[in-house]
Amino acid sequence: MASVTIAGYRGRQITVQTGLFIDNQFVPSIDGKTLDVENPSAGKLLATVSAAQKEDIDRAVSSSKKAYESWKTTSPSARSQLILKLADLVEQHTEDLASIQALEAGTLYTESVDFHVPSSVKALRYFAGWTDKLDGLSLNIPQGLSYTVRLPVGVCGAIIPWNTFLIGFWKIAAAIGAGNVVVIKTAEVAPLWAQKLAELIVEAGFPPGVINITTGLGTVAGQYLAEHHDVRKIAFTGSVRVGREILAASSKSNLKKVSLELGGKSPTIIFADADLNNALYWASLGITMGSGQICASGSRIYVQDSIYDKFVEEFAARLRDGIHGDPLLPETTKGAAVSQSQADKVMNYIKQGKESGAKLVCGGEMLPGPGYFIANTIFSDVPQQATIMQEEIFGPVASIARFHTEEEVIAKANDSPYGLSSAVFTTNINTALRVSQGIEAGTVGVNAWGLANPNVPFGGVKQSGFGRDCGQAALEEWTKIVYSSAKNR
Ligand code: NAP
Ligand code: MG
Repeated sequence: MASVTIAGYRGRQITVQTGLFIDNQFVPSIDGKTLDVENPSAGKLLATVSAAQKEDIDRAVSSSKKAYESWKTTSPSARSQLILKLADLVEQHTEDLASIQALEAGTLYTESVDFHVPSSVKALRYFAGWTDKLDGLSLNIPQGLSYTVRLPVGVCGAIIPWNTFLIGFWKIAAAIGAGNVVVIKTAEVAPLWAQKLAELIVEAGFPPGVINITTGLGTVAGQYLAEHHDVRKIAFTGSVRVGREILAASSKSNLKKVSLELGGKSPTIIFADADLNNALYWASLGITMGSGQICASGSRIYVQDSIYDKFVEEFAARLRDGIHGDPLLPETTKGAAVSQSQADKVMNYIKQGKESGAKLVCGGEMLPGPGYFIANTIFSDVPQQATIMQEEIFGPVASIARFHTEEEVIAKANDSPYGLSSAVFTTNINTALRVSQGIEAGTVGVNAWGLANPNVPFGGVKQSGFGRDCGQAALEEWTKIVYSSAKNR
């Protein structure tokens, strides 16, 4: 089967298989259709992978269905050992995975080495620990005794976005840890990390079909997976628009379980009594990590009156600097937009920002290529109803506005269709507690932004979706509860 060799960190040669990974083998798609994968930092073709068609998804699902018959009787400790082995292999292949993400998604190599890979390894190890702890309850009933059993759902599907492979690892770890088998559909623009993972899955010793990985178009392979009658659960991370389609596909087919992790327009709230340097650090990271292409990006920043001007000035000083270019180089501090079309979308928002009455503090333009680099951009005095304050941009664009009172800022923070993440900066514990409880969001960071840990549930409220990745809460998504009742004689 075909493969491609790419040059990673320090010229490291990395060979990646380009076929669909079904039954622990790489196979071409049924009609030989392919997808091109671009390196967005170079604006050049990186690889060509198979594009799964409906028949290929059928093939992957029936492979998983068959695998489930023996997987469901595999002991929890054996499943745990396999996941732990995979975690070790992922850790050993940190350089490969970080290089691949740099090349296909424009993510800084250093960011992947420091965060995305180790977080993925932690997620695998965390869920490996759950395999033998999925217990039920015993319940007293007037007639006798009832008990519940927590069982895997069976054949599951997971549809992954391009912005970080961590999301893929969260889903695989929880799905397998809970005893399911899973068919993955990776994002069109960033599929190669999972092709490397597939090799590690074989090396770890997973039986064929327990994890199948398909590359292909969302509108073909993704949609068909979401509609598939033999898939009992679908986990999705991506846009609200596609989230609605996933839900509709479930409702039109077999009413499969659905979990949706969708977009965000997450507020960062900075009170006058905050440790300013700390707030500046996290607020900067919140909008520059992944070049703002993080679902939880702190893209709306509300700053209290008396420190507003000072904050804007110092925030701009931090964001203005940056070395863009090859994300494999350790000196690069600014990665690329994932594609030309993503860059166009962001630039269109910047144009709307310029017309919104807000002040452009810095950035606002594309940086010299090759590749798709957008200057870190700050708008201040942004009207609450401006498009750039309301819609998810998914780029390095911060919209700042001032506030006077706590009540006002909570109302502004909640004036959004989204509710994924948020952060509050204050040294007053009472303010921190009240604001944390007042914000409608799945996550509130206090004096920090974006602390992701495998034991802490991650997900949204409102149109940021429902269901959780990570933590014990994720197990609810990947299991079902059934009960038995016994009558006293
Ligand atoms: P997207 O366009 O919604 O795509 C996500 C995945 O869905 C991709 O694999 C895509 O395939 C697939 N897809 C597209 N159309 C489909 C359909 N009709 N049926 C089934 N699957 C389909 O999102 P994206 O552009 O990759 O990622 C950006 C969005 O994801 C942002 O809104 C961001 O906020 C959100 N996000 C959320 C989280 C979170 O945890 N809440 C995390 C990361 C990102 P293709 O690649 O072929 O389009
Ligand atoms: Mg897309």
